[in-house]
Amino acid sequence: MVILTKVADGISATNGTPNERVLKCPSCGQSYKLAYGETERYHLDAWLRKADAVLRKSHKQNSHETNVLELR
Ligand SMILES: [Zn+2]
Repeated sequence: MVILTKVADGISATNGTPNERVLKCPSCGQSYKLAYGETERYHLDAWLRKADAVLRKSHKQNSHETNVLELR
């Protein structure tokens, strides 16, 4: 499972996950942390594309009011 959590003041809900990468919303620069498991790391490019789409959608829908976004 891949989870995007909003980063506020440098803190996110998934601090401590082994594999993570910080992404920014392409529209407003809001930071999100992408946390992923061992199996997902081999398909990271695909997950990053999905994450980009989800971030854009979140931006349009409610300006990132949702703190946790799940990717499937
Ligand atoms: Zn945004």
